[in-house]
Amino acid sequence: MLIDHLNRQLREREAQALRRQRRIAESPCAPHQRVSVGDAPARELLAFCSNDYLGLANHPALIEALAEGARRHGAGSGASHLISGHSRAHAALEDDLAAWLAPSIPGARALSFCTGYMANLALLTALGDASATIFADKLNHASLIDGALLAKAAMQRYAHGNLAVLARQLERCTTPVKLIVTDAVFSMDGDLADLPGLLALAERHDAWLIVDDAHGFGVLGPQGRGSLAHFGLRSERLIVMGTLGKAAGLGGAFVAAHPTIIDWLVQAARAYIYTTAAPPAVAHGLRESLRLIGGEEGDRRRANLQQRIAQLRSGLTALTEAHPALGWHLADSATAIQPLIVGDNAAAMALAAALDAQGLWVPAIRPPTVPVGTARLRITLSATHSADDVQRLVQGLAHAAKDLA
Ligand code: PMP
Repeated sequence: MLIDHLNRQLREREAQALRRQRRIAESPCAPHQRVSVGDAPARELLAFCSNDYLGLANHPALIEALAEGARRHGAGSGASHLISGHSRAHAALEDDLAAWLAPSIPGARALSFCTGYMANLALLTALGDASATIFADKLNHASLIDGALLAKAAMQRYAHGNLAVLARQLERCTTPVKLIVTDAVFSMDGDLADLPGLLALAERHDAWLIVDDAHGFGVLGPQGRGSLAHFGLRSERLIVMGTLGKAAGLGGAFVAAHPTIIDWLVQAARAYIYTTAAPPAVAHGLRESLRLIGGEEGDRRRANLQQRIAQLRSGLTALTEAHPALGWHLADSATAIQPLIVGDNAAAMALAAALDAQGLWVPAIRPPTVPVGTARLRITLSATHSADDVQRLVQGLAHAAKDLA
């Protein structure tokens, strides 16, 4: 019965070009990757799909720091943080992260998590009790949506970036605690939230602003300090969640906030309390990530990334203008996430397949991850892409445009 039910749904997804498939990376994360699907032999692809924005995932200094961390602290943590799994490495990482965010959140403390998904669940369920209302941008990441749905708080969603709607919702709100929740860089569109505008609203309405900086941390702002630093924001009302598996090149996440908020998360956040602490070696390795991100090497990599973004945008703008009949539309994004909106699910899949045939790996993103009718190629760039790599992608898309026209 269950199996029949699931098979029916799987067939429906197949028919709507919505069935998802995993590929196996046979080589470390890098623009040029060996990849296999099923039993077919591995192929080398030029990938535009990782979130390894600075190209640190395979950096020798990080690999060495991870190994050194394992030698010093062992391989596994052995228990949850509140039992015996909280090692010196986790504590030191949290101190580094608190110092990292201190210019934006005075007196901040930080708490490390195994993943960003769990950090968002922890944060929203622990702060969003029955005395709270959560105000959420409609395009927030799935983990923020799931956290808000799990929380006891009421949830109100506002149209993407529509601060006028949010202001009216805040005015009418009668709960004592108000939490505004937003991605800083929207993960499927690449655009930036109006964080100064949101913070001004939080201050006017005695609300708190929770910022998910998964795609800004390490990339935006001076020294890659993130989206809050990019906008030069500073307030005790800010709560930031950053992920450490993207620009930081390893894995994990953190929340930085007022010390009382961090204390409360340790006491009450189930997604923090009831899970085994990440391996301490990862925490040790992440301290090296922060050094790389904040140093000259980070600056060089961010400058390279900016050049690739500009190159891709000029190439794709020319291409979409040359082929208006295809209905492709380059999203208005200045970040490493550069979506090419195609519209129809099957058309997005066909375009991804046409690129794949040319050795280019750009995934098609379909509903429910993005709204119906906005299926797209989600192109992500890394500091380790060369100018030739980006040129190959633009040419590959031009080739596909001719074939599909
Ligand atoms: N927030 C956003 C905006 C994300 O894009 C992601 C990851 N895709 C997460 C949170 C979850 O982070 P993690 O991958 O560390 O679980």
